[in-house]
Amino acid sequence: MSLLIKNGKIITMGDDPKIIENGSIFIKNGRIEDFGTNDEVEKRNEKPTEEIDAENNYVMPGMINSHMHLYSTFARGMSLSGEPATTFVEILEKLWWRLDKKLTLEDCYYSALMPMIDCIKKGVTTIIDHHASPYAIMGSLDENEKAAKEIGIRSSFCYELSDRDGIDKRNEGIEENIRFIKKCNKNNDDMVKAMFGLHAAFTLSDESLEKARESVEGLNAGFHIHTAEGIADENDSEAKHKMRIVERLKKFDILGHKTLTIHCVHVNEKEIDILKEADTCTVHNPYSNMGNAVGVAPMLDMVKKGLVVGLGTDGYNCDILEGMKLANVLHKLNTRDPRVSWTEPPLLAFKNNSIIAERQFGYPIGVIKKGGAGDVLIVDYKPWTPMTNDNIFSHIHFGFSSHNIKTVVANGKILMKDHKLVNIDEERISRKSQELAKKLWKRI
Ligand SMILES: [Zn+2]
Repeated sequence: MSLLIKNGKIITMGDDPKIIENGSIFIKNGRIEDFGTNDEVEKRNEKPTEEIDAENNYVMPGMINSHMHLYSTFARGMSLSGEPATTFVEILEKLWWRLDKKLTLEDCYYSALMPMIDCIKKGVTTIIDHHASPYAIMGSLDENEKAAKEIGIRSSFCYELSDRDGIDKRNEGIEENIRFIKKCNKNNDDMVKAMFGLHAAFTLSDESLEKARESVEGLNAGFHIHTAEGIADENDSEAKHKMRIVERLKKFDILGHKTLTIHCVHVNEKEIDILKEADTCTVHNPYSNMGNAVGVAPMLDMVKKGLVVGLGTDGYNCDILEGMKLANVLHKLNTRDPRVSWTEPPLLAFKNNSIIAERQFGYPIGVIKKGGAGDVLIVDYKPWTPMTNDNIFSHIHFGFSSHNIKTVVANGKILMKDHKLVNIDEERISRKSQELAKKLWKRI
């Protein structure tokens, strides 16, 4: 199977983003086989099985969401009894830990389908998810995988290990992570990978961290853990363990180049240095941090120190372009300095998310490059001013949004063409999803 996307203005992304006018991309067996000008690509390659005329629109790599919670889907529109949460820990207790306990395996599947469809519309073709369903643990990652296969989104899954529901649930969480990691290692599927999920340091005992570490030995998988999201996480670590969170993660050998430490809102300089030394990536989630009122992550400092900071949506929505825009204004407001945070948000959204995805999937993603993932967006954007190699991100920041995403290709397969989903019955899935959400709300 091959697909030619021709007559586009290709934005390459990667280390040195460029625009190739009158460009083509040739995708074969899910990977980019060739790209360049129309003439070059036509000369060098066989006749494609299928082709799309980009009609001089912009063509760019599919985007990546480095931290997602598909399981949070049914929270949308849900009303909760009782007093509203006043702190981040209360948000967990009063909302997320009430919802996730009631999820069934079928809920896990439909919770994944709807946001994955939305990912397509938002131009996101790769997600790294963090899943929780403590009373439907075993097989839950298979339900996520089934949805990903059906919709066509490249995904990494993990199960959120935690002590909060007792030893049996913790052990089941370990088992589900290991089972799924082994399955992914065996299948060696380009489209589905696995990590070992950990909720957060404050819900995991030393014994649990040790068991997680031991069980993943030799399986070539990184950890995916919320880190210093709320101040309570750091306070707990200092009170119970007499050390900072990142020091504790280092002690239990949780860090490393495949591990993702999410948020890092309250990490101090020493912790940033430890993360850098361990070549561990972090993921910034500005929308979520603002929504949960947890504080502002030292993203600018982390980038300055050379940390690979990616960008995620934390289940708030599926829109990574929106996250990039929020990161821009959040750090300007926070520092009261309009000069800052211009270059970092696109760095997070594109280059760093691409680095993170490559570490998880093992080949280039989020970049137009030979051998890279065949994930391509056609963006209907007519610039008001000249758009050149020097101001690509200024145009993306102020000009691109999800409604410009016209056509989406993932793994060489067309998922949306001219704003219409291909072979996806969104209406049916939405109806079923609403039905299940209604039942779930009654159980909460
Ligand atoms: Zn999260």
